[in-house]
Amino acid sequence: MRSHLLNDTTAEHYRRSVTQGVERVAAKLATTERPFTGITVDALAPRIDAIDLDQPLHDTAAVLDELEDVYLRDAVYFHHPRYLAHLNCPVVIPAVLGEAVLSAVNSSLDTWDQSAGGTLIERKIIDWTTGRIGLGPAADGVFTSGGTQSNLQALLLAREEAKTDDLARLRVFASEASHFSVQKSAKLLGLGPDAVVAVPVDHDKRMRTVALARELERCAEAGLVPMAVVATAGTTDFGSIDPLPGIAGLCERYGAWMHVDAAYGCGLLASLKHRGRIDGIEHADSVTVDYHKSFFQPVSSSAVLVRDAATLRHATYHAEYLNPRRMVTERIPNQVDKSLQTTRRFDALKLWMTLRVMGADGIGRLFDEVCDLAAEGWRLLAADPRFDVVVEPALSTLVFRYVPAAVTDPAEIDHANLHARKALFASGDAVVAGTKVAGRHYLKFTLLNPETTTADITAVLDLIAGHAEQYLGESLDRAC
Ligand SMILES: *Cc1c(COP(=O)(O)O)cnc(C)c1O
Repeated sequence: MRSHLLNDTTAEHYRRSVTQGVERVAAKLATTERPFTGITVDALAPRIDAIDLDQPLHDTAAVLDELEDVYLRDAVYFHHPRYLAHLNCPVVIPAVLGEAVLSAVNSSLDTWDQSAGGTLIERKIIDWTTGRIGLGPAADGVFTSGGTQSNLQALLLAREEAKTDDLARLRVFASEASHFSVQKSAKLLGLGPDAVVAVPVDHDKRMRTVALARELERCAEAGLVPMAVVATAGTTDFGSIDPLPGIAGLCERYGAWMHVDAAYGCGLLASLKHRGRIDGIEHADSVTVDYHKSFFQPVSSSAVLVRDAATLRHATYHAEYLNPRRMVTERIPNQVDKSLQTTRRFDALKLWMTLRVMGADGIGRLFDEVCDLAAEGWRLLAADPRFDVVVEPALSTLVFRYVPAAVTDPAEIDHANLHARKALFASGDAVVAGTKVAGRHYLKFTLLNPETTTADITAVLDLIAGHAEQYLGESLDRAC
């Protein structure tokens, strides 16, 4: 069994084994014709159930054959130009290479004595990001597992910086279109059930600053404490960007921590054309970025950034065995002092490889392409009488629904759209997402693949219309 340990004597086995896997995946990617096969849970579960984990196959090729059967054949492929559903991007090759390196070397980024250069590389990527945001010379941050964790950590810091120990009096302001992790964080942080105040959005799904001002005023009058305002730079559903400069002014006036959730919109930090859309982000006290959404990085790759490095002390605990207090005075850089995690992946290497091979402009160009594609898609939808489209995209998301000319019953239109999404998924021809707008069912394209063309968009819209029409035709038959 020792032959399976990766070490000096097994380098050749390692090379062969990983190459076999890479070749399978490469062959798969090259021949995937649809983003999904449409497999159902009921069809797939027995295949996985049938495998006895106590009966190993002992042979890599055989295991890869089996993997084809239980995973690779029916996986959902984000690289396919007709995968248009969630905030998943196709990944860039330098980052995948980074992933292979980081798992083989297997540094853990909690302490310097488990990572050495890895710690410094992560720090440099963090500094590069805070520099792009414009957070100033005292900024810092740390990689996290994702936007959810970044938001949690940012709000933890905000809670600790708030001027009260009475958790019941703390209020967090976030728009109606903000991510649900804000509410989850409030709960985990022990805030009261009414802690998160949902601020109304305007027609473009951006937080109304007038409404925020009113809520902050009401909070002050009630003797409550405005712990934080969460501005979303790229809402998950619409890609809308809250008015950051106006929100920054209000945070200043009411003494609230300004957190910018740029999990999605962070791609603009590298953009050559649209960077101006997130102007004002430099006023933030903390920022969430998800490189695994708009920097074309594999999951996980995310960070939380702060204006004032000293605030990260709220996540600092010392353990004699790991990061004793004396190491701070010895100036030994232990990233665990800033993180909610202890053992932690060297995810920063993926972005490092990407920046060194492609450069930031290369990433920014790809993100600009999907933003431009979304703008084009919006024009197509707005001109198409079969569809109703919600907001003109600030990033790369389109929310729309099929509206049949002859049907006016809103419930029936909802069902037709729900059916179209399900039927499309079952066919595997394309994968789209869905959401609700004002209580009604809508469909959603999240465009993150520069390989997707307007022809793909047109074709998928035709497929959706076809499925919806078929459903309505059948339900008419049922009614007769
Ligand atoms: C995706 C998203 C999150 C959560 O990020 P994860 O990486 O999925 O944990 C938070 N906020 C916004 C706006 C998002 O789009």
